[in-house]
Amino acid sequence: MTSRRQFLKTASVVTAGALVTPSALASGKASPLAAAAPASGKRIGLQTYSLGVELLKDLPNGLKRLAAAGYNEFELFGYNEQAAGFGAGGRDGAVTIKAADYKKACDDAGIKILSSHLSPSIREYKSENFAQFDEFWKKAADLHASIGIKYMVQPSLPSIKNDEDAKVVCEVFNRAGEICNNVGIKWGYHNHSNEFVRVPKAGEETPASNDPMARMRARGEYIEQLFLDNTDPDKVFFELDVYWAVMGQQDPCEWLRNNPKRFRLLHIKDRWIIGDSGMMNFPNIFKAGYDIGIDGWFVEVENGSKKGYTQFDAVCESAKYLSKASFV
Ligand code: MG
Repeated sequence: MTSRRQFLKTASVVTAGALVTPSALASGKASPLAAAAPASGKRIGLQTYSLGVELLKDLPNGLKRLAAAGYNEFELFGYNEQAAGFGAGGRDGAVTIKAADYKKACDDAGIKILSSHLSPSIREYKSENFAQFDEFWKKAADLHASIGIKYMVQPSLPSIKNDEDAKVVCEVFNRAGEICNNVGIKWGYHNHSNEFVRVPKAGEETPASNDPMARMRARGEYIEQLFLDNTDPDKVFFELDVYWAVMGQQDPCEWLRNNPKRFRLLHIKDRWIIGDSGMMNFPNIFKAGYDIGIDGWFVEVENGSKKGYTQFDAVCESAKYLSKASFV
């Protein structure tokens, strides 16, 4: 990323535990709508789920406001197959914007659409349904390719009770990856916290209560690890949501360092506004991401309507924090 050199220059002054709090929030004085962040020259991405229908109902003005706050890359959500566009993922089905119109509006605002989140509505991962999955991903890949999107990412976890379930899911993932590769798109998977639940090997679900070794075996493997182990690196990459990894009692930096060729994108997320909780070690997270050569990252803000902030306020405040941060 373009900001890596700057990061390396300043890394020596960032201590491992330096958790910076957005100054405007710490002081309690500045309005979140105070002057937009200065043009930082940084790539600052946003997952548009953070805004939902609030963005879509007045897209041109919303994009202008986000660009002024420092955002210049998007990861969309709300792919709508019937409408050949992007909506608010059921939060308001009435607002859907055609893919070409969405791209034009982003081009006009100087925002590049790098990635997109989407999941098939087919629930059962079994071989009888493979053709249906393929059809979903083929249609989606064609639409995404038509507006030059580089990454497509599934953010939802299918039902997995053991390692065999995970292997079937991975077969669908590999097929999706191949379909996307055929039109020049890379296919990835995004975690929440449930991927850091361990599942046992098939047949070892119920260990004898008096056999400690059986109980150890039944702890099994993390779903995220099973996904890493059973997908083809040429077809499937991973996007690490660093907040949900922490919620899954994991060190996101460790997962990045242990799988340097698999993680390509990050979700930069906190309890609320980025940097506000002080619980996420973003200096270390960005360093680990840059060290393995990630290709992008996206701010994700949820629950931004607290404390009198609109969701837009929280999203813009997050960009301001990251624009100023020496570790980005
Ligand atoms: Mg996320």
